[in-house]
Parts: sequence; structure tokens; C-alpha cells
Amino acid sequence: MVAKVAEKIPEKVTPKMKEYKLVESPLHDQLNSAAKVIMSQMPEGFEGVVGELALGTYGVHPWQILAGILMNAFQNNGMAHCEFRPEWDMPVALPRSSAVCPQCKQTFSPKHLGQKFCTSKCGGIFAKAQRVVK
Ligand SMILES: [Zn+2]
Repeated sequence: MVAKVAEKIPEKVTPKMKEYKLVESPLHDQLNSAAKVIMSQMPEGFEGVVGELALGTYGVHPWQILAGILMNAFQNNGMAHCEFRPEWDMPVALPRSSAVCPQCKQTFSPKHLGQKFCTSKCGGIFAKAQRVVK
């Protein structure tokens, strides 16, 4: 099954939207877990965009989106253009285990570095309230 997917992807060709069917396998599970760990170190919103591209736009696994971004950089000589975040230098740069949402005051487990709100809904309500105040 995995080989079939690989056969369908010629080199240097960007897949068309929804061209692929999700293939379930332990390898995909493992790679998706690794992708999740990497995405936990990215700013808020990153994982959502990857998820949207994976399941909404391309119909592939999240790890394949990350790999596709890397392939794009590789094929376009973009490998040396790196941007590092200061948090990545810390010994443990995982998100805090719990935080209090400034909007609903509930305790939640952040999934991303710098995540302030429990949900994007709370973030939206907070931002809207800030605009009204000004
Ligand atoms: Zn909240």
C-alpha cells in the first residue's frame, strides 16, 4: 500500500488537491507521532495549517505535509534558509503542562509553545474584546 502511494508521486511534481487516499499503517502512525512532536515546537497555528493541508487540501498524512515542505525546500535550494526560535535552545522546549486561559479562566494543556488561550474561540473572543476597549 505504501509503495502504491510512492509510485503515484513522481519527482518534482506537486500533488493535486485530494489526489491521494490516506493509507493507514504503523509506519504512518510512527511518522505522524514524530511530526506531532516537531509541530509541538512550532508557533500556535502551525499544526492547524498542517492539519488543514493534510486532511482538507491534499488528503495525506500530516507527516507528509512536513516532508513535502522539506522536499520543496530541498528542490528549490532553500535548505540553507533556516529560521530558529530562541526557545529551541532550551534543554526542554516542550509547551508548559498547564496554563490558565485569560479568557475563560479554565486550566488547559497547551499544545504549542506560546499558546495563551485554551481554544482559538477563546482567543477570538479575547481579541474582539480588546478591540472594543480601544
Ligand atoms: Zn478559554
